[in-house]
Amino acid sequence: MSYRRRMSAKEHRRQIHRRHITIIAACIVLAVVVVGGTYGITRLVLQKSKPAAAVNSAASAVKKPAASQIPVASTGNPNRRGDALEVVKTNLTGYRAKYSQLYAKRKVGQWKNAEKKTIYLTFDDGPSPLTPQLLAVLKKYNVKATFFLTNQPEQKNDIHYIRNIYESGCVCAVHSACHNYKKIYASTDAFLADFDEMYQIIQKETDGHCAPFFRFPGGSNNPRMTAPVHQQIIQEMLRRGFFFYDWDVDSKDAMGAGADAIFENVAAGMRSDGNVILMHNSAVKKATLSEVGNMIEYGLQNGYTFKALDGTLDPSMYCFSTKTMIPLLKNNPNFRLSAKHEARFASLLGIPPASSGSSTSSELSTAVANTVSNGGGE
Ligand SMILES: [Zn+2]
Repeated sequence: MSYRRRMSAKEHRRQIHRRHITIIAACIVLAVVVVGGTYGITRLVLQKSKPAAAVNSAASAVKKPAASQIPVASTGNPNRRGDALEVVKTNLTGYRAKYSQLYAKRKVGQWKNAEKKTIYLTFDDGPSPLTPQLLAVLKKYNVKATFFLTNQPEQKNDIHYIRNIYESGCVCAVHSACHNYKKIYASTDAFLADFDEMYQIIQKETDGHCAPFFRFPGGSNNPRMTAPVHQQIIQEMLRRGFFFYDWDVDSKDAMGAGADAIFENVAAGMRSDGNVILMHNSAVKKATLSEVGNMIEYGLQNGYTFKALDGTLDPSMYCFSTKTMIPLLKNNPNFRLSAKHEARFASLLGIPPASSGSSTSSELSTAVANTVSNGGGE
């Protein structure tokens, strides 16, 4: 019994020993499996991730230069200009479908208020035989002006002066091709046909630098336009990215004022910031030409700076037809009134009036007064 018990105890120890060996072996196997598996998985992951990273870096190496050429998205900066025009060109019918090239090149964005003591000389109805002399006067004082141009039969030998105007650094904009009120204001179709003719001429002579703004013959609010056509024309031009300037100082040269009167009218008008002065450059306006140098000297002596319109100046303070134009700007993505004038026209725009801006009330009153008092002219 004792032997058997002793043997049994021995056997028991052996069994325990075998168990330990089995457990140790299992642990070793398990460790090998775990380590090997981890190593294998790691390698697998590395093998997969390496080419992916290589592809990504290769792709970014290719993409990077291209990305730098992509136009930066609009930041909403009010002073930003040059964004692409936003316009729907599909499913258009009637006059809206015509003149597929007749779209402004860029959106304007938010307009600026008039700069302090700045004068914008504008000349309508050119070019003419007087254009080279006018450009010489402007050059003498290094002054840039804005020309609202026409293409009437008597101008056929002068049209090439548009290029001189452009090359002098002045701005070329559409006034009208034929300048015949009855014809151009008969319908929106008729207006567009005339506008397109002049636009294409200017685009050709200026290598594509016709301004995105124009001036209505007779101003934006004149009795030759019936109300429905008036509204329709403005709406269509805004849709195409074009807007217009009237003026706040009339030299009255269109009404036959003599040289002294022209000078007096302009000098008297130089009293607020950002005066847009209406003058003419047709062949018969020699009195105007004779006074331009005097006007510039008078302005310079009184601390004014002369500039050409570049499309950034808020046109609403010179607009005779604000009640027609302003509501049409409401949903137009290409134009936005300056902050001051958004407040001024809040009711027309359908926006709550801004709480600030009261400090500008005197300036706005002046603008309104000027606008109201200058409904005539050409
Ligand atoms: Zn005119």
